[in-house]
Amino acid sequence: MSERGELSSHNQSAASPRPRAFLEDWCARLDGGPYPAYRDLRGCHRLRGCDLDVVRVQPDPFAGPSRVRLLVPWDQTGLPLESGALPGGRGASVPGLVDRDSARAVGLRDFTGRRVGRWLDEAGAQGRPTVSVERHGQGMLDRSAVLFRRDGLEIRLAVELPARGRRILGREAARLLLQVPERLIAECLAPGAFDPATALRHAQTAEDFAALQDALTQRAWIAFVADGARLARRAGNDDRPLTEGPVVAFESPPALRREVTLPHAGRVTGLAFDPGVVLLCGGGFHGKSTLLRALCAAVIPHVPGDGRERVAVRADAMSVRAEEGRSVHDVDLRPFLHDLPFGRPAHGFSTENASGSTSQASAILEALQGGSRLLLIDEDTSATNFMIRDRLMERLLVSRQEPITPFLHRAQTLHRGLGVSSVLVIGGSGEYFRAADRVLLLDTYCVEDRTAQARDIVRDHPPLPEDPAAMDLFRAAADPGSRALPPGPPGEPRVRAHDARRLSVDRVSLDLGGGESLRDVSQARFLAAVLSRWLREQGVPRGGTARRAASPADLLGWYSRAWEKAGLDGFEPGPRGDFAAVRPLDLLAAVNRLRARGAPEGAWALEEEE
Ligand code: ADP
Ligand code: MG
Repeated sequence: MSERGELSSHNQSAASPRPRAFLEDWCARLDGGPYPAYRDLRGCHRLRGCDLDVVRVQPDPFAGPSRVRLLVPWDQTGLPLESGALPGGRGASVPGLVDRDSARAVGLRDFTGRRVGRWLDEAGAQGRPTVSVERHGQGMLDRSAVLFRRDGLEIRLAVELPARGRRILGREAARLLLQVPERLIAECLAPGAFDPATALRHAQTAEDFAALQDALTQRAWIAFVADGARLARRAGNDDRPLTEGPVVAFESPPALRREVTLPHAGRVTGLAFDPGVVLLCGGGFHGKSTLLRALCAAVIPHVPGDGRERVAVRADAMSVRAEEGRSVHDVDLRPFLHDLPFGRPAHGFSTENASGSTSQASAILEALQGGSRLLLIDEDTSATNFMIRDRLMERLLVSRQEPITPFLHRAQTLHRGLGVSSVLVIGGSGEYFRAADRVLLLDTYCVEDRTAQARDIVRDHPPLPEDPAAMDLFRAAADPGSRALPPGPPGEPRVRAHDARRLSVDRVSLDLGGGESLRDVSQARFLAAVLSRWLREQGVPRGGTARRAASPADLLGWYSRAWEKAGLDGFEPGPRGDFAAVRPLDLLAAVNRLRARGAPEGAWALEEEE
């Protein structure tokens, strides 16, 4: 990441910064001047302890904030940079991951961003207008808010340039552009301003996570939850750890307890999940979904104190759920579907209005095309008829009337044929014991291994029938070159991020669906930039002729090439401080959900009575 920043043309301005006195005089001189004159400030200014590069100036006081970068020479910071955090320790080659090569730098950048954020909130720039840095959640992400460059630290801030009416407020501008940055460096980042051991611990947490993910690969586990982990969250809309009331720390069942050695935490024990079909069973409110959600989240590292620091899953884990009403484009659903009404084919299946079951089947096949080999599924968010059909219902519906083969009959096929594991929250149907390799029971937030008992319960039931043809169907449907992606709307659509899971494309809402691995609005914002560039490059110009439709393989190749060139800065002109990387899988999930058409504006028409 760091070196990529170096090469961008925005660094030209750093060549000849204007002296500090220029900015000071300007603010005094233009106090009361017309707001658009702020444009004069674009470019680089030398301050005490750093350079200030004004990248974007808002056209008026009500527009989105202006953007500045602080370029801080390394000797002005107290960051513990020895051993590999500096350029050379390049970013992860796959976007959205924090691997061994990038972990130390991502951890230190994350530490810096949080420190800057806290200082600005508390000490630096109280009141409005403000200086701010992008908010950081519980996860450590590869963000554009703080970058490491060869010559120093780059901090990207948003500044609301102050005004009275439409006039420049000079003194306040001087405070925000001169005093706040200089105090920020001196009080927050300079050598001696903080304990470097804290920064180091933060980075080491990211490194331990990357090592834990490596251990998963080496030992062929799909997930690991360390003993002592605290998985419960404060609220459905608050990702911080639950602290009130009795919080039960995770404890692995002794028979499944495994040990790993992490570079900093040393020997750590916990529950290692073997590949296959794993059930999380138990009564309602006993912690099943909490455990599954912790696994969904554990594609990235978490900050010290989060409780999930030593939880990791395969980096290609994907949560899938029912998304009734989503659009589906050209997906081969034959592994799950046959005989649709009116002879509609199950291969090349498209709809603007999927049912719960077809949306969930599509999400699974799309995940496989993106390379996922671990599906995370919760009954709470699944279509019942996609998961299971009981024997009484089978007597009512002859096969022609029920096109769906439930996941129950496909879970083992996926595992044996394609090496795809699944972790399933199932509290409602013991039929799943017949498909399970491992049955875990959650009892008052404690995990027990009940595999033997579950096997015993289904001993007298016939084994689930094998369907060798399904394996071939899965292989064909999982091929990322086998289908066309939805082209999206024509022209150059405007893509915007609304929250971590929702974008809009030309004002048509785009729900990112099962992507529970998307944690943060900064990721959605980056996704919007990537998507917008993809649509521009691939799209059919209004009135132009269509070219060959791109496949998931084309999209993934394009993303990896563009990432290789410029990383987080490669998709929009001008450096942005409010982006965070997303995995190729999550980009594919977004593109898969594109709609060709918008919704009609207003539908007030009344049917005329005959
Ligand atoms: P289930 O999916 O089994 O119905 P949930 O995972 O939704 O249950 O958890 C139910 C409640 O218990 C939630 O409010 C959750 O935050 C809380 N909870 C989960 N795990 C723990 C734990 N280890 N300690 C304390 N509370 C927990
Ligand atoms: Mg639940």
